[in-house]
Amino acid sequence: DVVLRLSGIEKLYNKGLAGEVNVLRGADLTLRAGEVVALVAPSGAGKSTLLHIAGLLDAPDTGLVEIGGERMDTKSDRRRTIARRQDIGFVYQFHHLLPEFDALENIVLPQLANGVSKSDARHHALELMTRVGVAERAKHRPAALSGGEQQRVAFCRALANSPRVLLADEPTGNLDPATSDQVFGALMDLVRGTGLAALVATHNLELASRMDRVLRMENGLLTDVS
Ligand code: ADP
Ligand code: ADP
Repeated sequence: DVVLRLSGIEKLYNKGLAGEVNVLRGADLTLRAGEVVALVAPSGAGKSTLLHIAGLLDAPDTGLVEIGGERMDTKSDRRRTIARRQDIGFVYQFHHLLPEFDALENIVLPQLANGVSKSDARHHALELMTRVGVAERAKHRPAALSGGEQQRVAFCRALANSPRVLLADEPTGNLDPATSDQVFGALMDLVRGTGLAALVATHNLELASRMDRVLRMENGLLTDVS
């Protein structure tokens, strides 16, 4: 059950200019429902570029991007935005929660934007928060939460609309090793509970080894090194 497929992805920046850089040179990637795949890449290798292409935020120069078997890279901006909201969840090194809203509201708001009723959205948000152990922090604003709690809330927000794909860019990169370990465990539990596919970029080889597969990005290509 292939959820995300990238095929022959090429990406150049500054095409034809002095600073031309050929970041992706025919990268292939297949993510199946329920699998958690690590993306390990040295800094500057093109990890963010790949995640942006996979997340329909950027289009490749060549190659194709399919979600659930449907080709997405050739769709209009509007269609890609809709697909992104429905099918893709993002988490970053920084939580990017809205500071003026409490933790619960941060998870409720994206659901309201997708047409879910307020009571259903709150119920679902609390369910997700309970799974990662932050339900008792629901009424706190992000600034009142610890770094680990902030990331747990960010994971809940990313999964609030039940996406098919989770794209995570160094999701525990800002945390100390012990917290990072716990928060990563929480992320794995959340993902395992839903059957969605996750691509998790990390520099932490120990965390990478705990995922289902490890892909290494080098010279613009992806290689399975697990
Ligand atoms: P990573 O996330 O692995 O550090 P990036 O995908 O951010 O790598 O960048 C890969 C390469 O492409 C780097 O050399 C970077 O400087 C270059 N690059 C990224 N974005 C742009 C851009 N918008 N314009 C020009 N060069 C870029
Ligand atoms: P909105 O129109 O509501 O701001 P977007 O379609 O711009 O929503 O964004 C949809 C998703 O993509 C959001 O989860 C957002 O965090 C993410 N996103 C948007 N722009 C970027 C970006 N430049 N880099 C990374 N993620 C982004």
